[in-house]
Amino acid sequence: MPAVALWHCDEYTSAKLDPIVREALSLRPFSPGMRVLVKANMLAARAPEKCVATHPALVESVCRALLDLGCRPFIGDSPGIEPFPLVARVSGIAAVGEKLGVPVRELSRSTVCPPNARRVNRRLGLSADALEADAIVSLPKLKTHCQMQLTMAVKNLFGTVVGTRKAQWHYAVGLDRARFADVLIDILVSLPPVLSIVDGVWGMEGRGPGSGKPRFFGLIGASADAVALDAALAPMMGLPAENYAPLAAARARGIGDCELNGAEWRGDFDPGTRFENVDIPALDALSLMPRFMDKLGRALLASRPAQDESRCMQCGRCAAVCPAGALVLDGKKLRFDYSKCIRCYCCHEMCPFDAIVFHEGALMRVFKALGLARR
Ligand code: SF4
Ligand code: SF4
Repeated sequence: MPAVALWHCDEYTSAKLDPIVREALSLRPFSPGMRVLVKANMLAARAPEKCVATHPALVESVCRALLDLGCRPFIGDSPGIEPFPLVARVSGIAAVGEKLGVPVRELSRSTVCPPNARRVNRRLGLSADALEADAIVSLPKLKTHCQMQLTMAVKNLFGTVVGTRKAQWHYAVGLDRARFADVLIDILVSLPPVLSIVDGVWGMEGRGPGSGKPRFFGLIGASADAVALDAALAPMMGLPAENYAPLAAARARGIGDCELNGAEWRGDFDPGTRFENVDIPALDALSLMPRFMDKLGRALLASRPAQDESRCMQCGRCAAVCPAGALVLDGKKLRFDYSKCIRCYCCHEMCPFDAIVFHEGALMRVFKALGLARR
C-alpha cells in the first residue's frame, strides 16, 4: 500500500518547507548522481501570488534537498504557448535555478515513447528530457480546472507533452473527458514520477487553471503514487474521487491505488478534512451524454467560450493556441466558429487577462433546473 503524506504548511518559508520536503523525499530512495527532473507546473507567465505556477519557494526547497542528497536536479516544463524564458522569469523559478546553480530547461524535444502494453493510445510522444532523466519529482499546484475540474498530481504530467502537441491531443479527443483522462493515465504509465509533492499552501479555485482565484489551503501533500495522492485530495476539494475523470480512468485500468484502503497515512494534516465550498467548475455536457451525441451535445449542452470585450487586450494568444482553428481575432473582436469548437477551453487557459467567459448551453440550463447536472 502506498504512503500518502499530508502536512500543514501555512507559508512559503524555508523554515516551514524544508522539514516537510525532506520528509517527503524520504518516501523514496534517491542515489547520489541521479539526474532528477523537477517537473514544476509552469503553465503561464504569472507571478507567484497568482497561484498559477508551483511556488518558487517549494521548487527551491526540493532542489536544495536533492542537491544535499548528491542528486543532479534540473527544473523543467513545457508551457502552453508563452515563451519558456518569460514563464520561468515571471514565475520566479528562473531565479531559483540561478541561486542554486540548477538548470531550468524547457521540455522542448519530443520523442516517441517506447511501447507499453498498459497504454490505450499506442503512439505517444513525450519530452525526451523527461524520458532520459533517471527520476522525476513532480510538483503540481493544487488548482481547479475548467475542463477536468481539478488539476493535481496526474494532470501535472501533461506538461511533458511538448508545446503545441498538447493542443493536438485536445483536438484528437474532442469533448470526451474520459478519453482525455485515458491520455493522462497513458502519460503516467509512460513517465511515472518517483514522487509527487503537491503545492497546496495557496492553490486556486474557480476558473482554473489560469484564471481562477487564489485560495489558501495550507497543505502540502506527497506520495510515490500520483493516483493515490489525487484520490486523497479530490474529496478534500469537494469532488468525490469516483467522479474525477483521471481517477475513474485509473481505477478502470488498475493503475495506482484509487481506493486508499489500508493506505499508510503520514503527516499532521487530517485526510478527512473537507475544504468548505471550493468553487469547482461543474461538469456540463460531458457528464450527461453518450459518445454518439458528441456533435449535438456540443451545440446544446457544453458551455461556449466567448470574449469579454471589457477585459480583452487583443493579444491573440487564444487564437494562436486554439487546436481546432475555431477562433480568429478580427480587429478588436474574437470570432468563434462554434461548429468547429471542441470545448477544450485552451483559449480560456491561455488568456492572461481572464477575458474568455463561458455561456452555458441551453439544454444544460434545463438539466440544471431539473437537478440532473452533477459534480
Ligand atoms: S475556441 Fe477555445 S474552447 Fe473552442 S476549440 Fe478553440 S481553444 Fe478550444
Ligand atoms: S481573449 Fe485573452 S488571449 Fe484572447 S485576445 Fe483577448 S486578451 Fe488575448
